[in-house]
Amino acid sequence: MTMDPRFAILFEPVKIGPVTAPNRFYQVPHCTGMGYSYPQTLVAMREIKAEGGWGVVNTEYCSIHPSSDEMPAHSCSLWDEGDVKNLAAMSEKVHKHGALAGVELWYGGQRAANHHSRLPGLAPGSMPATAAPWQSQKMDAADFKTYRQWHAAAVRRALQAGFDIVYVYAAHTYLLAQFLDPRVNRRDDAHGGLLENRSRLYREVIAETREILADKAALATRVEVTDEDETGAEDRAELLKQIAPDIDLFDVTVPDYSREMGPSRFIKEGALEADITHVRKLTGKPVVSVGRFTSPETMLAQVKRGVLDLIGAARPSIADPFLPNKIREGRLDDIRECIGCNICYANDGLGVPIRCTQNPSMGEEWRRGWHPERMRPARTKDSILIVGAGPAGLDAALTLGRRGVPVVQAEASRELGGRVTRETRLPSLGEWVRVRDWRVHQIGKLENITVYRESPMTADDVRDAGAAHVVIATGATWRRNGLGRSSPVTLPSLDDPRTFTPDDIMAGKRPKGPVVVFDDDHYYMASVIALLLAKEGLPVTYVTSDGIAASFSEHTVEQARTQTGLIAAGVKIIVSHGLSGFAGDTLEIACGFSGNITALPCGGLVTVTSREPNDALWQELKDDTGLRVSRIGDCKAPGIIAQAVYDGHRFAQEFDLSEEEATARRERVVLA
Ligand code: ADP
Ligand code: SF4
Repeated sequence: MTMDPRFAILFEPVKIGPVTAPNRFYQVPHCTGMGYSYPQTLVAMREIKAEGGWGVVNTEYCSIHPSSDEMPAHSCSLWDEGDVKNLAAMSEKVHKHGALAGVELWYGGQRAANHHSRLPGLAPGSMPATAAPWQSQKMDAADFKTYRQWHAAAVRRALQAGFDIVYVYAAHTYLLAQFLDPRVNRRDDAHGGLLENRSRLYREVIAETREILADKAALATRVEVTDEDETGAEDRAELLKQIAPDIDLFDVTVPDYSREMGPSRFIKEGALEADITHVRKLTGKPVVSVGRFTSPETMLAQVKRGVLDLIGAARPSIADPFLPNKIREGRLDDIRECIGCNICYANDGLGVPIRCTQNPSMGEEWRRGWHPERMRPARTKDSILIVGAGPAGLDAALTLGRRGVPVVQAEASRELGGRVTRETRLPSLGEWVRVRDWRVHQIGKLENITVYRESPMTADDVRDAGAAHVVIATGATWRRNGLGRSSPVTLPSLDDPRTFTPDDIMAGKRPKGPVVVFDDDHYYMASVIALLLAKEGLPVTYVTSDGIAASFSEHTVEQARTQTGLIAAGVKIIVSHGLSGFAGDTLEIACGFSGNITALPCGGLVTVTSREPNDALWQELKDDTGLRVSRIGDCKAPGIIAQAVYDGHRFAQEFDLSEEEATARRERVVLA
């Protein structure tokens, strides 16, 4: 296949000051949960992006001094020679594929809690760190000097490590952004007040960085086009114009992270265009920005309209590290499009390496040796029967097929996709259907996979099928008995026609009002259902056992918009309460602290608690002699879609390995 000539423009080289990017595909700095703690894991992951055709591959935020750490989120660092060595390994691997390597130098200021180093952060004022009851150190004259020395030293180390692009980072509420923002910067000295003063440190750091870099590397800056409260656009424009002569690349964004890192539930592709479209003309310099770009048409349009010179991508490059190569090779239908679920981001905050719902190899490149495109041929070519075609069954089938194994897949219903098909019919979750669609399409290209729809399998059917190895991928069912995180026991009174589960709602059943939706799951399901029912006109009370609505979605940058949306839809929110059960006409809930009971009027209850594995088939078959039986995905351990995909993938990658061979490598220091 060949490239559509219209897309040739995306593969034009772009001059960025003294260096030239080989094409317009630019992997912006993005966190990985790896940082300085997992250098080998990081190098392997970044290399694959370069191999997949990204013309520029950046690090995540890279701390310039121990007084800037956001543990448990792992950042890179350029504090010493050891860091230089580790990051040189990354730039070397990126260069091997003809790409440029960039580094985003970072200082957290008042925001970073420095849990690890226990040093106070330097900042414009003495203010509380994010989620920690301690404050930063207000910078005095000596601190300014010290900070600039740290930054300069990190710039020199960046050059030593072989980076082609070095960032002065003035966004995302970190130090330089704190100085720029008039609401955060309350100083009344030469660094506060007018824009000229607020931008002084930023301009000084740019000038010093420029001097050190000379023409050895490009100077990029990541900066927002307004202040944190979305005012100050004129001041920002003036500033960007002022600094432009020293800047080789503007990486521009908006302060609302839930828009920049917009989850697909709330934000569509290319959402920043109107905010940043002026920067290119204003500065006369190349511009990059993000927008969850997965469509080559959108990319093309942005370049043609003169909005962007480089297509910035974090998530699209995570979901498909080979996206650029696929466009170049005319394989658009092979692009594994990001679904905008933000699970990739969630794990940085949780202190563990990145993962991706769409791309199960993400983060596993080093420890499991997985590659997003190339699979090791299987050792055995005996056919495998997979029962169930949800995300686990589909990924297992595809991966086995790619490894050369003949696969027969039997799915009970007419539609493939299992929970993905059901869930993505709920409002706002539509883009997630890409998990199914990409796999079903890829499976269709492989002759060694046969899929039978409307084929519910009994244990005898499985035995009769004659496969040597059968994989049970039959999913899970939402419980209606109250069992879950906040209740280790079942609640007999819920055995009542007024009780509904998410499966009922997805099947089109509806409770009578007033409705109570009980969220013991803490992710998206309960709030999505509460909103759906409220929009259908039912009076809805949302009760959660946690302290905020949909608390897990804080990790996916969806929480604030979720709770705001519930309030706007008129849903009454009650937090920190567990379910006691029906008592006549009312539903009783109990305060998680005092145990005090509140009775709510309730015509219908939707329990979003936990799920029961559909493992009857597994139980029946597991001890059959002569049959090798495995179970994967939700029927083994119910979880989020990313886990089902991953578990199906892991099975398919490892079913022919010994336990020892399948043990993931660990990245840690072993004492001599
Ligand atoms: P997972 O997330 O683990 O992939 P899902 O619940 O999404 O699980 O998918 C399970 C799929 O298995 C569903 O599409 C369901 O129709 C199918 N299934 C369940 N039991 C059987 C069975 N006995 N025979 C065939 N397919 C089944
Ligand atoms: Fe996209 Fe979700 Fe993968 Fe992140 S985890 S890259 S949002 S598909």
